[in-house]
Amino acid sequence: MLKNNNNYKFWFITGSQALYGPEALQQVEADAKKMVSALNAAHNLPYPIEFKLVATTSENITQLMKDANYDNSVAGVITWMHTFSPAKNWIRGTKLLQKPLLHLATQVLDYIPYDTIDFDYMNLNQSAHGDREYAFINARLRKNNKIIFGFWGDKAIQKQIAQWMDVAVAYNESFNIKIVTFADKMRNVAVTDGDKIEAQIKFGWTVDYWGVGDLVSYVNAVDEADIDQLYEDLHDKYLFVEGENSKEKFDHNVKYQLREYLGLKKFLTEKGYSGFTTNFEDLVGLEQLPGLAVQMLMAEGYGFAGEGDWKTAALDRLLKILGHNRATAFMEDYTLDLRQGHEAILGSHMLEVDPTIASDKPRVEVHLMDIGGKEDPARLVFTGRTGDAVDVTMADFGDEFKLISYDVTGNKPEKETPHLPVAKQLWTPKVGLKAGAEGWLTVGGGHHTVLSFSVNSEQLADLSKMFDLKFVDIK
Ligand code: MN
Repeated sequence: MLKNNNNYKFWFITGSQALYGPEALQQVEADAKKMVSALNAAHNLPYPIEFKLVATTSENITQLMKDANYDNSVAGVITWMHTFSPAKNWIRGTKLLQKPLLHLATQVLDYIPYDTIDFDYMNLNQSAHGDREYAFINARLRKNNKIIFGFWGDKAIQKQIAQWMDVAVAYNESFNIKIVTFADKMRNVAVTDGDKIEAQIKFGWTVDYWGVGDLVSYVNAVDEADIDQLYEDLHDKYLFVEGENSKEKFDHNVKYQLREYLGLKKFLTEKGYSGFTTNFEDLVGLEQLPGLAVQMLMAEGYGFAGEGDWKTAALDRLLKILGHNRATAFMEDYTLDLRQGHEAILGSHMLEVDPTIASDKPRVEVHLMDIGGKEDPARLVFTGRTGDAVDVTMADFGDEFKLISYDVTGNKPEKETPHLPVAKQLWTPKVGLKAGAEGWLTVGGGHHTVLSFSVNSEQLADLSKMFDLKFVDIK
């Protein structure tokens, strides 16, 4: 997959104070280190945790938070109050911290040692009230930090930490997302438009225009031998279905998409872009609307949306980072099943459906496309999958961005569609199609979305908090 800019890790700080003497502090440090080692050794976390500090003074806390800000490999800071740690010590450092913050409210032991508990134990193990003192100041500072409460050794808690880590990494990486829009957005369309400068201020996204002509020169310069090699290699991955086409036409049209893929990839790599948009209204110099070419790049983790929709392209890349590029796809609400008992949305696009959601082996097919007035484009055709997913969109209201989402159940289409040769995915909002769609339409959610089977609504809520972004979760 298209790599992140950094190899990330998380820093761990445990809170204490000098009141209990050096022996207690040594024990605090030993316990925190043991906890961190056990968390790393459990292999339930996607990124390593590094123990950094027993925090006892405003000075050492402030310095550590400053260091976290300046170290690109630090995706976030995890805090835990082993003892009572007076929270005035945390104000300066917490205010300065610009990385995601997780308050892990836990305790060394998951039980009360009734038979042996004494005041030494109580001096050392004060999480029950220490975590409250600390949480107060984060709330007062309106830090929007994540809080996870529970026994650190529990699998469910470790899973929650893991999911938060993925969100924190996506947040950090968001500031490296660079999208190129080939041509502008589709004429006259409102919902896909927006304020690129505000998006850069808020999410760190760079969105640049390049003319289709700039891409065409890359596409035309691709070496024929590279195309032939790729054509052969792809037979392992996909089924080649000639259908009604002559062999000559099929080969030519597929190979032209591979030419577009190689040209696009070179362009994106050289200029450092991690996502892009196309627009079927402007293909001057290209023989086909990129279909298979786009799908192959999506499979590698590039963000994409059609019709110049840079917001959805950037969101696609962001959620692909969050979900490790597993089953996360650009989508469009295509057509509806309104019959009782069948309520569903059929999602697809003209060509550019992301094969990371495929449940069968994608077929390379060449078919006519009535829109765009170009050669018949090659595309991957496949069936989507079943499972729990979220469907997400980003709206720009001028005075604020909104992230809009609902939980959905993914399903395979009930039947084949022999006259609609595109990849398809069926889903139904968990709240019901009627309530879900009415909620979506009411808050102004668009028709371009990112459908992800690897991201959940808690993660979207956490991500929105990190960006101080309005999150509308339709339940
Ligand atoms: Mn579209």
